[in-house]
Amino acid sequence: MNDAKSSTATATTATAKQPLAPVGRFAPSPTGPLHLGSLVAATGSYLDARHGGGRWLLRIEDLDTARNMPGAEATIRATLQSFGFRPDGAVLRQSERLPRYLSAIQILAEAGRVFHCGCSRRDIAAATATAAGGGAGARAGDEPRCVGRCRERRIDPAQAALRASLEGLAPRCVQDRSGREIRFNPEVHTDVVIRRRDGVIAYQLAVIVDDAEQGISDVVRGGDLLPSTAWQLALQQALSLPTPRYLHLPVITEPDGSKLAKSRRSLPLDPATATESLCRALTLLNQPLPPASRQATLEALWDWAIAHWDPAAATARSTVSA
Ligand SMILES: [Zn+2]
Repeated sequence: MNDAKSSTATATTATAKQPLAPVGRFAPSPTGPLHLGSLVAATGSYLDARHGGGRWLLRIEDLDTARNMPGAEATIRATLQSFGFRPDGAVLRQSERLPRYLSAIQILAEAGRVFHCGCSRRDIAAATATAAGGGAGARAGDEPRCVGRCRERRIDPAQAALRASLEGLAPRCVQDRSGREIRFNPEVHTDVVIRRRDGVIAYQLAVIVDDAEQGISDVVRGGDLLPSTAWQLALQQALSLPTPRYLHLPVITEPDGSKLAKSRRSLPLDPATATESLCRALTLLNQPLPPASRQATLEALWDWAIAHWDPAAATARSTVSA
């Protein structure tokens, strides 16, 4: 925990001031090869860091070992290399950082926030279904809350997730760099899973511990992660970690607006057509292409794209059809 500063402001505040040189990151899970959606996220974060003369770090989010695919990390790194991405520094692998996450849980426990939750998916689904009208539903953002008053009950730890209560934290509202408001409200965001029932450290916890430790100044990622940000603001506050600036890129969809599926638009990236795929990613990010882009070398294309990076154009739409 290299920085104890944290905003507890209750009013709308901008996130951390942009430092001289940004530090960005790309954080794939090794569950399969990279596809167009991941290329768009990697490209946006890379251009943002490099345009500002900053660093770009690679993090492998491999905590969910049941979903990891053998060899996928090597494939991802080789693909990034062949597409011309050049990560700075050592690769951070979440599976090697368990002690860091456990010490964060310890800090939350010492603050009296941690409790075992025995609610099953079925309990949560049932509570959601009975909460007619949605206002008092079991879900806030993409994180189901504890619905069983588990904090007040004796729960078998072997059958339970660990949650952090967010009670008493200050409400926060930050704007991401495209001006979209992200609100954390402890009356809505009451608690969050920090270690899953199967023992896996939860994404929301790992990501903020890692962002802080890697000194990430600018998180640039897909808009599908926008709902996660409120939880991350809360946990940053609870752990006195800094809040980076956020930029949420458009969600890439199928032409009918549905989630990008395993169609020809979402095949594994082919290094043989790297230039063409990068042009496609730049177009999806609403970035200008150089004249005669099809004939450009990969290096020339990157130089152009870095020089012309326009985050406002990239985030002008919240979804874009592949
Ligand atoms: Zn519960």
